[in-house]
Amino acid sequence: MTTVTTDSTATSATPLADARAQLAEAAGVLGLPEGLHRMLATPRREVTVSIPLRRDDGSQDLFIGHRVQHNFSRGPAKGGIRYSPNVDLDEVRALAMWMTWKCALLDVPYGGAKGGVRIDPRSYSQAELERVTRRFTSEILPVIGPERDIPAPDIGTDEQTMAWMMDTYSVNRGHTVLGVVTGKPVSLGGSLGRASSTSRGVVDVALAALESRGLKPATTTAAVQGFGKVGRGAARFLAEAGVTVTAVSDQYGAVASPSGLDVPALEAHVDATGSVVGFAGGDELDGAELLELDVDLLVPAAVEGVLTRDNAPRVRAKVVVEGANGPTTPDADAIMAGNDVLVVPDILANAGGVVVSYFEWVQANQAYWWTEPEVEARLKQRMLGAWEAVSDYATQRELSLRTAATAMAVERVASAHTQRGLYP
Ligand code: NAD
Repeated sequence: MTTVTTDSTATSATPLADARAQLAEAAGVLGLPEGLHRMLATPRREVTVSIPLRRDDGSQDLFIGHRVQHNFSRGPAKGGIRYSPNVDLDEVRALAMWMTWKCALLDVPYGGAKGGVRIDPRSYSQAELERVTRRFTSEILPVIGPERDIPAPDIGTDEQTMAWMMDTYSVNRGHTVLGVVTGKPVSLGGSLGRASSTSRGVVDVALAALESRGLKPATTTAAVQGFGKVGRGAARFLAEAGVTVTAVSDQYGAVASPSGLDVPALEAHVDATGSVVGFAGGDELDGAELLELDVDLLVPAAVEGVLTRDNAPRVRAKVVVEGANGPTTPDADAIMAGNDVLVVPDILANAGGVVVSYFEWVQANQAYWWTEPEVEARLKQRMLGAWEAVSDYATQRELSLRTAATAMAVERVASAHTQRGLYP
């Protein structure tokens, strides 16, 4: 296990540079002291591990994994585990920082963390992914736990990954510890409603944001980038709310139909083929073009850094709701603000997942389970409450929703830190 410290300066346009630029803006609004700002720009703990894998054919491979715990001032760290060939330490640092703000903004009693393994999960068998997950879990075991740091699924991981993590942790502790991860299968202490929670929250906030612009679902069109755990549910719930979903994409391509895609039929196509490409109910579209379509609502729900200074001037959506973490660079934010595009930031829009992860942790720690309608009602209440609080804060201070949300969150974390005091 290697523990690393970092300085708080980032130079190039990376998710970490974006995250630090957003923090700097919020720090300016709050008049945050320089020492506190530097502390919040820097992760509290980082662990980098190597993960040897015995492949099914007997050969050996090696991967690098990270777990970054950005902050613990308000409670244990919380955040997803990503399996992707693009994982790098700076990306994980940025995602961990955004988790801190998200938890504080939604007032769940956690700090922020994130983890990842640099691996393309589609190139490995389930048995190999199980061995990678168990070895990664063993390596980070000293720093995780229901009172320390609670992982969850993210890009390239799912409830099976969480079941393996929970089992590996529990076997090493000598007893079953349900609260060590969230996003588990319901049969293993997962929460009803967790799998759809991020998408539901995205749509709750999207409908509120559209309403604030005078747009009604029945006359609204939407495009969704990404058709994974977040994008797929977002497209489904938007369609169920009456919104016409005219285009969706995944990493292989995009499909569009101006009169609206039949989302359940598209889901069946994706289940059968693994991609939205080739769906008979729509025309092929270039993935990059989806972001510039003439729609009312754009939901980027894939990866970070897709709305940049290059394409932001061509974004025609009236409202952008960030299902993904970090899809908009600060340059793009400024350009879209100038064009009167309302951007609902990730730390608000996609917080439904961490809210229901919190519900799952509460249920697991009490071994007392809620019904799905209870989970969904409590989720909606929290999402709409946060939307209203951020909108009011932004209006009163004439800030963007992102700066308002970040400032509110940073203020809560800074206040917890100050009340606890600096040790020693
Ligand atoms: P996932 O792996 O389930 O799905 C990712 C989707 O994005 C896939 O359809 C993939 O094909 C697509 N994709 C990847 N690169 C693309 C590209 N360049 N263009 C178009 N599509 C592309 O992952 P997920 O859990 O849905 O996560 C998506 C985003 O949402 C990430 O930024 C993640 O951090 C964020 N997020 C996820 C959760 C959650 O609960 N899963 C919660 C909050 C935020």
